[in-house]
Amino acid sequence: MGIFSTIADLFFPPRCVFCERPLERSERGDRVCRKCRRELPWGEELIPPSGELGRVCAPLVYRDNVREALHRYKFGGKMGYATPFGRMLADEIKRRFDGEYDLITWAPVSSKRKSERGYDQAMLLAAAVALALDDAPVSTLEKFRDTPANSGLGSRREREQNVSGVYRVVAPELVAGKRVLLIDDIYTSGTTMRECARTLIDAGAESVIGAALARTAKGME
Ligand SMILES: [Zn+2]
Repeated sequence: MGIFSTIADLFFPPRCVFCERPLERSERGDRVCRKCRRELPWGEELIPPSGELGRVCAPLVYRDNVREALHRYKFGGKMGYATPFGRMLADEIKRRFDGEYDLITWAPVSSKRKSERGYDQAMLLAAAVALALDDAPVSTLEKFRDTPANSGLGSRREREQNVSGVYRVVAPELVAGKRVLLIDDIYTSGTTMRECARTLIDAGAESVIGAALARTAKGME
């Protein structure tokens, strides 16, 4: 470790992305502390296919520290969380979907949302995932109409109407005949991912499977 990073550590000790506790030297590579590794709400099962969307893996359950960390990532400017989140999700993808996809893409936010927030959290996550898998993310979708956040809506029907027809494929030649792996940060009701999958399949993709860092607990859908 260089002198500058050593000095910086005195003032800004690297903290666990989930519990924000300063990390031991040995924990710093992953930016996740041992206690969180042990105690985070890990999800076990794959989410079954629905509509045009195939199976989805999500290593974590969206609650407690996971919920707070994702909130800091999306709304608190903690863009750097993309790297540890991406590594974690890449491990899960390797374990679940190795050899089952041809390209990695993501469910984009609208340009309005992106300019308000300054970044597209799903794109950053997809970039970090792809890097950890020695791959490169491919931009395939555009969200051309801004919609209210789905999390503020009640019924599944409302959520579906909210995102219906708001995506388009930006480069159909890149998705034609391809098995696509779609990345998003959180899987809630699956509405967003299903709509992205439908749009990709309509443009000629062979299949779409998904990977999200966290999913809401069963019963919250
Ligand atoms: Zn921790």
